[in-house]
Amino acid sequence: MFKINDNYLKLPGSYLFSTIAKKVAAYKEANPEKKDQIISLGIGDVTLPLAPAVIARLHSAVDEMAVKETFKGYAPDLGYEFLRSAIAQHDYKARGVDIAIDEIFISDGAKSDSGNIGDIFSVDNRIAVCDPVYPVYVDTNVMAGRAGDYNPATERFSNVIYMPCTEENGFAPELPEETPDIIYLCFPNNPTGATIPKTELQKWVDYALEKGAVIIYDAAYEAYISEDNVAHTIYECDGADRCAIELRSFSKNAGFTGTRLGFTVIPKALKCGDVTLNSLWARRHGTKFNGAPYIIQQAGAAVYTPEGQAQTQEQIAYYMNNAKIIREGLAAAGFSASGGVNAPYIWLKTPDKMTSWEFFDYLLDKANVVGTPGSGFGPSGEGYFRLTSFGSYENTLEAVERIKKLK
Ligand code: PLP
Repeated sequence: MFKINDNYLKLPGSYLFSTIAKKVAAYKEANPEKKDQIISLGIGDVTLPLAPAVIARLHSAVDEMAVKETFKGYAPDLGYEFLRSAIAQHDYKARGVDIAIDEIFISDGAKSDSGNIGDIFSVDNRIAVCDPVYPVYVDTNVMAGRAGDYNPATERFSNVIYMPCTEENGFAPELPEETPDIIYLCFPNNPTGATIPKTELQKWVDYALEKGAVIIYDAAYEAYISEDNVAHTIYECDGADRCAIELRSFSKNAGFTGTRLGFTVIPKALKCGDVTLNSLWARRHGTKFNGAPYIIQQAGAAVYTPEGQAQTQEQIAYYMNNAKIIREGLAAAGFSASGGVNAPYIWLKTPDKMTSWEFFDYLLDKANVVGTPGSGFGPSGEGYFRLTSFGSYENTLEAVERIKKLK
C-alpha cells in the first residue's frame, strides 16, 4: 500500500481566508438587507487593472506567439535574459548592488519560491519565523517535515523558533535566543506592515554570518517603501551576499497577482562548504520548473520601462493614499494602529481586549467592514487585526467613516 506524506496531516485545520469567506457568507444570508453594503478591507489582492504599458507589451508578445518566426516554446530554465538584465539593472545596480544575471531566477511568483526554496535544504534545519507570519513559510516547512509537531494549546510547532513581533518591540523581531539555521524575514511585513531600518537589518546579516545561518528575505512589498532609512534589498547590507536569499514578486508592485511573475536572487557567494546554493537552486529550477511564460516575462520587462515605472508608481501611490486614509481615520477614532507607511497593510490593536475574531465579528456586524483577524497569522497576532489598502478609494473612505462612527 502506498504511503502519504503524513506531515500534511500535521497542518492545523481550516485556512484563514476560507473561514473568513464562510463567516461573511453566513452573515449575508442572515442579513440579506446588508448584503450589498459589505466592504472588504481584508484582501491581500490588488484591485487596479494592469498598467497600460504592461497591457501593450502583453498584446505585442501575444502577436509574436502567432507568427512562426517569433513564436516561443519553452522559456530558458532560469528566465529570459531581457528580463533578468532589466531586474539586475533597475532593482540592484541602480541601488548600488551588484547582482549578476545568473544570480536571478525567474519564477511564477514569490509564493511558489518561498515554498519551494526548502527543497535545497536538509530536513534537519531549524527554522525561525516572525510571529505573526505569512503562513506559507511555516506550512511549507511542516509539509517538508521540518517543523516538528503542532501543539494546539500554544498554536506552535515544536521545532520552529518563533520570534514574536508585538507592540512592545515595535513589531520588529529580536535576535532569537536559540540558534536557527534558516531565518525567514519579510520586510515590509505582511501582516504587520512594519519595516526595520537598514542598520537593524545589518544586525540580522551579521548574526546570520556569525551563526552560519541563511536568511530567506521576502521583499514582495519593496515597492511600497517610502522612508529613506529602509533597505530596498537585503543586499544593501554588507555580507548579505554570503548569507541571504531574496524573494521578489511582480504581484504587488505591478498588479501581477493573476498574471504570475516573481524571482529569487541567490548570489554565488552564498555557500555551504564548497557548494553554492545558486547551483542547487539552478538544478532544482531546471528539474522541476519549465519557466514562466514568454508573454508574462515580456509584460514584466515592460514594468521597468519609463512608462511602466511611472504607471505602476501611480498605482502604488493610489494604494498608499488609501493606507493613509485608513491610518489617519483609525487614529482619529482612537485606535492604536501601525503600518501603512512602507506597506499596504495597517495593523491595529483590537479595542477593549477583544480577541481578533471577536473584533472581526464586531466590525462585520456594526460597520459591515471585513478585515483579517491577526490571530490567523500566529499566536502573537492575537488581539490585532489587519486592514489592507488594496480596495477602491471610495470603499476605503466609506469603510473608514463607518469605523469612526463606532467609537
Ligand atoms: N510573500 C508575501 C509576504 C506575501 O504577502 C505574498 C502575497 O500576499 C506573497 C509572497 C505572494 O506573492 P506572489 O503573488 O508573487 O506569489
